[in-house]
Amino acid sequence: MPGPVIIGAGHNGLVTAFYLAKAGFKPLVLEARPVAGGAAVTEELAPGYRCPALAHSVGPVRPSIVADMQLGTRVDFLRADPRLVVLSPGGRPLVLSNDIGRSAESIRLHSAQDADRYPEFCATLERLSAFIVPLLERTPPALDSPAPQEIWELLKTGRRFRSLGRTDSFRLLRWMPMAAADLVSEWFTGDLLQAAIAARGIFGGTAGPWSGGTGATLLWHAASDPVPGGSAITVKGGPGALARALAESARAAGATIRLDARVARIVVKDGRSTGVLLDDGEEIPASAVISNADPHRTLLSLIDPVELDPLFVQRIRNYRMPGTVAKMNLARSTAPRTRAICTGASTSARASTTSKRPTTHPSTARCPWSPTWTSPSRRCSIRRCALRIGT
Ligand SMILES: Cc1cc2nc3c(=O)[nH]c(=O)nc-3n(C[C@H](O)[C@H](O)[C@H](O)COP(=O)(O)OP(=O)(O)OC[C@H]3O[C@@H](n4cnc5c(N)ncnc54)[C@H](O)[C@@H]3O)c2cc1C
Repeated sequence: MPGPVIIGAGHNGLVTAFYLAKAGFKPLVLEARPVAGGAAVTEELAPGYRCPALAHSVGPVRPSIVADMQLGTRVDFLRADPRLVVLSPGGRPLVLSNDIGRSAESIRLHSAQDADRYPEFCATLERLSAFIVPLLERTPPALDSPAPQEIWELLKTGRRFRSLGRTDSFRLLRWMPMAAADLVSEWFTGDLLQAAIAARGIFGGTAGPWSGGTGATLLWHAASDPVPGGSAITVKGGPGALARALAESARAAGATIRLDARVARIVVKDGRSTGVLLDDGEEIPASAVISNADPHRTLLSLIDPVELDPLFVQRIRNYRMPGTVAKMNLARSTAPRTRAICTGASTSARASTTSKRPTTHPSTARCPWSPTWTSPSRRCSIRRCALRIGT
């Protein structure tokens, strides 16, 4: 009896393979490329320079997946701090940290009013996140004919919504359809802070910051990582290390992963997928076919359209999925000279090639990377502070 076949060893394909294997199936993952991981790969860009080729942050990985796949024993999760530095043409950057108090100190260098409001904004996001996270983990109900269990889950969601209280429930209902730019401007006055927080509302989408509904995207990102601004979670070795760990876990659970195996067609007999055909002509039978490739590729090119309902094919054709992200990786022999970041005392040999002068900040004696540092005689301990401000 053949097991299920998964087309593609992207991170979603690997996690699917793990859970199927754990449930006693014998999944076979077929990956077109010579490496597993999909967009989460670390590659050598130039001799001696390895970098995340596409996805650079791993985003918040669901804790239940980390535990089930024992990823903590296979890879080191890192939480960058500072998590986001917003450069300013005016010279003084805004530095957002995982610590709300430290971020507020940096914000205070720009606006005392914004600094005072920041902790309340963060606390609100945290409370709303507690409501949103369970929604992200649940299979969406069938809206046309929900099962009794789905109706029960909806009722529970309604009860949790009521327990948010009047202020937070109103905020949630009001913020979701709002434009992210309007949402942040209700709280803050500074352009840098507004941009840093609203950016999550347009992350990975085609909408701009003034588009309605980007407030919901902002909240959705904040749900998994409630500290505003950027994404602080990555792994040692880059996303490629995480992909390797996912593949190891899936194999350990009983999945097989075949690389350099491009699926040319999903074989359908009597209205059911019965296997796949590789581009070298090999046919592999399958109890079920699961695709980790995108919907257009899967449903418009891997399946013969005559096997599908014409209305469904039309809907998939209308399903818009244009890319919104491009990335350029540069290998440099020296650290970049970045205007608006303080001149720093070097803490690494590489950094010292760009910075020979002691740490000073252009307009104050405070280092924006480490706002508590004030004494010119002390060295700033933050490595990236070694970038100099330009001449
Ligand atoms: C430039 C860029 C930057 C991004 N940055 C980030 C980021 O920093 N953080 C983040 O969280 N997300 C980021 N994303 C989004 C992220 O990459 C995707 O959400 C993620 O890769 C989706 O994972 P997946 O497993 O569903 O699919 P994919 O990673 O796309 O994997 C699909 C796999 O299927 C394989 N495949 C396709 N067709 C076939 C076939 N016919 N036969 C066999 N194998 C096949 C592919 O080779 C691939 O390995 C970025 C995306 C882009 C484009």
